[in-house]
Order: sequence, then C-alpha cells, then structure tokens
Amino acid sequence: QIVTRFAPSPTGFLHIGGARTALFNWLFAKHHGGKMLLRIEDTDRARSTQDAVDAILDGLTWLGLDWEGDPISQVGRVDRHREVVDALVAAGKAYPCYATPEELTEMREKARAEGRPPRYDGRWRERDASEAPEGVAPAIRLKAPQEGETVVDDLVQGRVTFPNKDLDDLVLMRSDGTPTYMLAVVVDDHDMGITHIIRGDDHLTNAARQSLIFQAMGWTVPAMSHIPLIHGPDGAKLSKRHGATGAEAYRALGYLPQAMRNYLARLGWSHGDEEIMSTEDMIKWFGMDAIGKSPSRFDFKKLENLNGHYMRSTDDAELLAHWKTCLAHTDGGDAVLAWMADGENEATALAALPGLKERAKTLVELTESASYLWRQRPLDCDEKANKILDEGARAILADLSNVLSGVSEWAAEPLEVAVKAYAEEKELKLGKVAQPLRAALTGRGTSPGIYDVLVALGREESIARVSDQAS
Ligand code: GLU
Repeated sequence: QIVTRFAPSPTGFLHIGGARTALFNWLFAKHHGGKMLLRIEDTDRARSTQDAVDAILDGLTWLGLDWEGDPISQVGRVDRHREVVDALVAAGKAYPCYATPEELTEMREKARAEGRPPRYDGRWRERDASEAPEGVAPAIRLKAPQEGETVVDDLVQGRVTFPNKDLDDLVLMRSDGTPTYMLAVVVDDHDMGITHIIRGDDHLTNAARQSLIFQAMGWTVPAMSHIPLIHGPDGAKLSKRHGATGAEAYRALGYLPQAMRNYLARLGWSHGDEEIMSTEDMIKWFGMDAIGKSPSRFDFKKLENLNGHYMRSTDDAELLAHWKTCLAHTDGGDAVLAWMADGENEATALAALPGLKERAKTLVELTESASYLWRQRPLDCDEKANKILDEGARAILADLSNVLSGVSEWAAEPLEVAVKAYAEEKELKLGKVAQPLRAALTGRGTSPGIYDVLVALGREESIARVSDQAS
C-alpha cells in the first residue's frame, strides 16, 4: 500500500507552498488507493507553537485534504529516536564526538578560508571512548562513507548524485541528548511505513544525508519526489511581497477550496492542456511523471478567474455555506452573518445568489455586491451613485415610486415590463431610468441586475428606498 505523509513544521500558518505539497501527497495517495499521514515536525521547540499546529490543521481541513489517523508529533517520539541512535552506536555506525564549540568554529573558519564547504573533519571518528574528556557530554555523529557517492533516485529530479566527501559525519544527537531533525525524519518515515516522500526540492540535499541514515539502519529508502518550489510572478521565490502566502488568507479573500485545489495542482503538475479539473479527475490523472522540473509561477489573475468559474458552477446551497465560512474569517463579516442568522434574510441571500455569482470572482466581491441586501435605510451612497442621483434622477424616482406601487405581481418580469413602459412613455433611454433606480436601491453605481435587486428586496423595502431618494 502506498503511504505518503505531509510533514509541516509548525512555525506559522499553512504556507501556500506547503498546501501544494500536502495536495500532491494527498492526490498521489488517493490515486493509488493509499493513505496520507500527517506528521508535525515540532522538534524545534523554540519556534513551534500549538497555534501554528491548529492553523495548519485548519488550513488542510478547509482545503478538503484529509489525513489518516491522528497527527503524529515528532517531539513525542524522542525516546524512539534515542533508541535508534543507541542502536547505531552499538553497531559501530555512529560514534560520540567530543569536539568543542571552539574546535567546530575553527573547522568552519578554516574551510571558509580555503574556499570549501564547511565540513566536520572526522577527528573523533576512530578514537576510542577512553580518550573522552571527562565531564563532557558528546554529540553522536553518523559514520558516513567517505568514498564513493550517494545517489538519490528522484521521481521528479531524476538520478541525483552527491559525492560522499561533501557529506560529512552529520550529527544525529546533540550533546544535550536531543535527536536532530535529520535523524528524526528518517526514524519517523521508517516507523510510519512511508513508501513515498513528496516535498519541496529545498530538501534535496537532506535526502542524500537521510539516505545514509536509512542505509546505516539497513532500512529501505522510500521513493523520493522533490518538487520545484513556487515562485512569484516575477520569478523570485514566492514571498509576502507578492501577495498572500498563507492558505487561510485565501479563505478570507473569498476563494473556494475547490478552486484552490485545482489551481495548486496545476502549479507544477499538468495533465495535457486541462486547466479546469474536478478533484476526482485530478485523483484519476495524478502522477509524478507529469511534474515539471522548473519552478512554477504563481499567477494571481489566473487563480481569480478559476475561482470565478467555480463560483458560477457551484450550486447555491454549497456556495452559501462557503460564503458563510468566508464571512466568519473576514473583517466585518460578523455583522453580515448576524443578518443571515435570521432565516428570512438567509432565504433572501440564497435567492439572490444566482444573480450575484454571475458577476463575482471571489466571495469577497460577492459580499460587496450583495451588501445592498443588508444595508440600512437611508442608504449611504458611494460617489458614483451620488453622481447619478441629480435633480432629474430624483424626479424620475418620484415617478417610479408610483409606477412600482402599481405593479401587482412583484416578480422580475412584470417589474421589467412596468419600468420599460414608463421609460417609453417618457421617451427616456432605459439607462436613464435604470441607473437612478439602481443608485436608490443599492447606493452603488454598479450592482446585480436591477429586477433581481427589486425582487430580492421585496416590495415594501424597494419602494421605501426609491422614495428616500425621490424629490
Ligand atoms: N518539516 C519540513 C518542512 O516543513 C518538511 C520535511 C519533510 O517533508 O521531510 O519543510
């Protein structure tokens, strides 16, 4: 069975690159009928927080990426990590190193002066424990091969070789008894039964070092896939200055999880020319062979367009649920949610959704264009609306309040007939009538279709708003 894992370090929110890594692990596991596990790499106690763990789980849940079982805390496995280090020492594959911080600094400086990468010189590799200085706790280092090369057969990068002389005897356990990250990853991947490691290509060098630990233990090295990182539109590594970098930020900005899944999957992976793919299709088609080797660029416009597509094609009840989730995470959203808590208002919002979603690319835009529904009379008008509402417009509104009062069935079609008949009678272009009506009803210069707006607001509220602005 295929077992993948997503292994975030809980030092902040779920980064968009991490979200894509999780998605690839998830798609690969689903494609093969396997499972994805979740491991929280919290060994860096100073930087790991519970808030970050919660934020990561929340982000994954929002994206619809589920994992099997409980998340595994790396720090909770320290005893097991030590056990493996002891086994390696007992087998002569690792050794205690008593080099002092000063000696290590000296080694680093010497390497720098000679223009080679800093590397531990192996000075305790062959020494006997009897030579150990008294009262000094040693670090434990891997006795790594000094000749030959270590090969990472990567499903994305191909065959990557690392001369062993460049990989020094890495530390497995620090002198304070804490296992290193490198050791912990290997032990956990082994114990969790991971068959495929899929992660960012910034871990490629780690892959070589980790392979050495796997080999020292006599364990099978999992298949590896190191995926190129995500870059910003300008080609530099994606960072805050390009825009939002946290998955949860996209929820607050009004993106749908299905649009995010589709967009993120296409960042680095492709299936022919397909741009729009259902999650089912992605699961069916996903594979490592179609992952590119060069970084992909994050295209905010493309994501927005894709989101618009998913907004239009998502059914109204589901869209309403996503809309509420978005509101719960947006400034000012609480007031709208409070308004929607009234069942009648919620029904109004739901009825208005078909018209609203045609125009909006994000749920935030949807909120803005729906805001006429819950704004209180007398409406604050924006600049454009104020400009429309001149003397002439106010006179037209006075007429319209009568026209609307005379409409017997309050539905889009009869309303349209009545408004058009009035425009014809006064020999006015329809826009000359519709624009003041729009401004009065919504307080905006642009809005969803005017007859939809009238229906959504209902007779009483519509006529009251028109009368508010009439002269
Ligand atoms: N914790 C690492 C990170 O967040 C991932 C390590 C791994 O996948 O092996 O970058």
